[in-house]
Amino acid sequence: MNRMRALALAAVVAGSAFVPAAATAPLTMAAPPPCSEEPRENPISEFTSYDELLVELDRIERVSAGRVAVETVGESNRGRDMLLARVGTGPKVVLVTAEIHGNEKTGPDAVLDLLDFLGTSDSSRAKQIREQLTVVAMPKINPDGAALDRRGNDMTWQEVQARFPQLATAPPSWNYYTEPRQGDDYSERPGFDVNRDYNPDLDYQPQPQDFPGSSDRPGWFISPETQAVRDVYRSLQAEFGAVDTYIDLHHQGACYTVPGTDRFVTLSLSGKFVADPATPEGAAYAEFADTFRPEYSKQLNVAAYNALQAAANRNPEFGNITLYPQDTNLPGTGLGTFQLNGSGAVLFEVRGQTQTLGEQHRAMLTRAVYIGLDGILSSVASGQVEHLDPAAYDRIPPTDRGKQTMTATTDIEN
Ligand SMILES: [Zn+2]
Repeated sequence: MNRMRALALAAVVAGSAFVPAAATAPLTMAAPPPCSEEPRENPISEFTSYDELLVELDRIERVSAGRVAVETVGESNRGRDMLLARVGTGPKVVLVTAEIHGNEKTGPDAVLDLLDFLGTSDSSRAKQIREQLTVVAMPKINPDGAALDRRGNDMTWQEVQARFPQLATAPPSWNYYTEPRQGDDYSERPGFDVNRDYNPDLDYQPQPQDFPGSSDRPGWFISPETQAVRDVYRSLQAEFGAVDTYIDLHHQGACYTVPGTDRFVTLSLSGKFVADPATPEGAAYAEFADTFRPEYSKQLNVAAYNALQAAANRNPEFGNITLYPQDTNLPGTGLGTFQLNGSGAVLFEVRGQTQTLGEQHRAMLTRAVYIGLDGILSSVASGQVEHLDPAAYDRIPPTDRGKQTMTATTDIEN
């Protein structure tokens, strides 16, 4: 909504928001170009809007001649249909979700490109994916936030209490926004960071003593958006026995660099969201120790990383891939929740949300997401993923966040 334009302009002029980390920068290294994390008003019309998504999914379904099936699997808080597209008839299911943060817009576009490819291509790779996998994609899982071009959804605590009367005296959850954030004013239209609303117990019902909660605690499924994703996940578990792979598409800060270089990170990957439930740190989720597959998550990430490195021959930007910070404990995210439930899990964090980059680099960044997704699907479909070395995951370069600290960024940007 109302971006803080004047403030942002000052920061752009000063170019002051980015400072490279001296410790990792060789003395001969050129300084990176100026980069600002300050919110500003950017055009975003090149990205697929909600209305355009409806048209495009309908088109893909028609031209796919029955390969792609689109269905409505719920409603957002403001009554927008939650859409799902399914392609392939294979025994392994891959669930892909995008734009749970409504200002993170390359995911839906990459998913549409992928559905178009899988729905229409007669290449051997497309055929193998369709035969070995069932790909289930939910391209815009926070459509109200997407329409407002902001992180949070469009829902008040009073609406939550009306739906869950047992919360009548509970305080609002910690992830309820009522004040300005990332240049968006939530005071008139409050909302929640729905990417902290998942709970590893898929049958969980909200209890007043679990509020306000915190980032390192599970969420509550209080939003219709996360309820819809959970219900899809459960129905896929029932149909396939397990959801083999879960991929969630996000954006992060605009000014991170590849360590020791002046190159901005195109995207970061991660397969680590919660402590291993078989260890003392993960004891709170010990009941999931048998289903948790951290090595498989690493292999899936390596598949995406390798595909992007191979594409760097065509465009060096595809080679600027780093590992997302690994010291996270986020059981309330879809990734943490579904990983505990047995899915191999992959996080994509693309450079820059709309308030910093707008549609700049849109085509390249969207293509990078597509290449990573295709790398994972191809590797799972061929069985190659099982032969990838999980240790290669630990060799992916970390992300140089400059002067920004983990504490400041995890809650804000992922
Ligand atoms: Zn995000």
